[in-house]
Amino acid sequence: MERLQKVMAQAGVASRRASEKLITTGHVTVNGEMVRELGTKVTSKDHIEVDGVPIEREALAYYMLNKPRRVISSAHDDKGRRTVVDLLDAEDVTVRLYPVGRLDYDTTGLLIMTNDGNLAQGLMHPKFEVDKVYIAKIKGALSNDDQQQLRLGVKIDGRKAKPAKVKVTSTDDQKHTSIVKLTIHEGRYHQVKKMLEAVGHPVMKLHRESYGPLTLGKLQPGEWRELRPQEVEELK
Ligand code: URA
Repeated sequence: MERLQKVMAQAGVASRRASEKLITTGHVTVNGEMVRELGTKVTSKDHIEVDGVPIEREALAYYMLNKPRRVISSAHDDKGRRTVVDLLDAEDVTVRLYPVGRLDYDTTGLLIMTNDGNLAQGLMHPKFEVDKVYIAKIKGALSNDDQQQLRLGVKIDGRKAKPAKVKVTSTDDQKHTSIVKLTIHEGRYHQVKKMLEAVGHPVMKLHRESYGPLTLGKLQPGEWRELRPQEVEELK
């Protein structure tokens, strides 16, 4: 059972707020009966119409993808580059899926793909603070002071980033590179690259290992799998 306005928003009728208005102003019927109550709950079997037009309710689908490099994480790309949606389409996934948030063109790693707009919105809202774990190959080695700055919150684009968890996994003194693990819960544009750049260590490679309770496990770049019901519950 789900709230009527949530199901309407889900089906792409309007935002949840606008759907509430459609309900209270008498535009919505459930199984032929006009409904004006905001508390109304419906199941997948109920027939919902807005101004006499049935809403299309697609089954909710949830996937995790290990995004490969050189793939755009949006639904389409003006420059004609391959997108994460193309990637799943090519594999016979017929529902229309959208990525939850973004990974850069050259970043690999965990990306959730779903048609559940409510879940996607919730996950991307800063107030839910979903932890994301990134593995970065950087130039040079982080000093204790660099690490401390990242833990306290470095300034990027004129605004302080929230404190990050930082762990140096390995350093290669000969190549002057190192591998660091950074846990953040914001999702600002190029956030990890900018944070590491801010302490003087440009990112050479970036990978997202986990997103909230989900981790990639054995999934290789370009591979994807459906989330288990238990995993979906954990995201809510
Ligand atoms: N931070 C970045 O800089 N890039 C990503 O793709 C994700 C987080």
